[in-house]
Amino acid sequence: MKAAVFHERGGRVAVEEVGVRDPVEGEVRVAIQAAGLCHSDVSAINGTYPTPLPTVLGHEGAGFVEAVGPGVRTVREGDPIVISTLAHCGYCPACAIGRPTLCYEPPRPQTPFTFRGQPAYTFANASTFAERTLVRASCAVPIPRGMPMPQAALIGCGIVTGVGAVLNRAKVETGQAMAVFGAGGIGLNVIQGGVLAGASRIIVVDLVQQKLDWARRFGATDLLDVSTGIDPVQAIRDLTGGRGVDHSFEAVGSLAAIEQAFAVLAPGATLTIVGVPRLDAKTEILVNALRLDRTVQGCRYGSARPQRDFPMLADLYLKGRLKIDELITRHYQLDDINQAIEDLERGELARGVFDVAADS
Ligand SMILES: [Zn+2]
Ligand SMILES: [Zn+2]
Repeated sequence: MKAAVFHERGGRVAVEEVGVRDPVEGEVRVAIQAAGLCHSDVSAINGTYPTPLPTVLGHEGAGFVEAVGPGVRTVREGDPIVISTLAHCGYCPACAIGRPTLCYEPPRPQTPFTFRGQPAYTFANASTFAERTLVRASCAVPIPRGMPMPQAALIGCGIVTGVGAVLNRAKVETGQAMAVFGAGGIGLNVIQGGVLAGASRIIVVDLVQQKLDWARRFGATDLLDVSTGIDPVQAIRDLTGGRGVDHSFEAVGSLAAIEQAFAVLAPGATLTIVGVPRLDAKTEILVNALRLDRTVQGCRYGSARPQRDFPMLADLYLKGRLKIDELITRHYQLDDINQAIEDLERGELARGVFDVAADS
């Protein structure tokens, strides 16, 4: 089968012939139908996220169950599923209290693929840039039939990460004001998470006009174009009568944006950091500013519970309450992967989606 393999540091990704083994106990093989390109795939290529090589890239995807290993009872052959990257165990104390993103037993890197006769690794427990992939059963999350596959694919990272940060982690309340720094693939989903939560005001900061236009369509109430030289901190204070917002979200991975997002917190407010800066990035905060019950928190993968959240998000889409069509800027074939990466890095894509279909 064809798959996008990253096999050489500093090199490009190549679509090559790759083998995948049959599922064993607790595993599921999936025929991928659609896969989204996310910044984390690029982070693997440029070394921000070191990953063992060779690896089959991609972690956002949807498809149909093709085969199940012994003991798998959650899905059957032919079921439509969205890939989750968590691969959580389901039994540890964190899983038991409904926080699978904090699972005590993260899976060890697996090599279900073969590339040029050698074992090849999965990426993020997923490897969706492939005609077929092999995952733990907990990573194959059933969704309603009738959910279109390109739209379904995006649920598995961009949508759950953004919407989940608002609903699961920050728990924004109806009527609260929020600010969102960055209106890329994740930021747009933070914005629509705010709409679902009933936020009274969603102030969005970016420096690309196209992204601010997207933000407006996704429910932003106020747009701040920082390419004009305005100070977003002062502008947000002005918009909120000097008090600041109840929630701010950083969805860029920029230390400057994190500091600005902290500076706009009202008393009692919370900064949720969704973006991923360099792994060794540090920042300073004024500790005294925390005294009035301000909070700074991280958020991994939307603090998701995929088995509950993915079908819920698909259902919201099917009922017209979640925008996914509007997130898909462009469709690609797997062979166009390097073009898609260039387009993403130029900031042209909210999301690019690969239409994947196996020949056999
Ligand atoms: Zn991602
Ligand atoms: Zn666990």
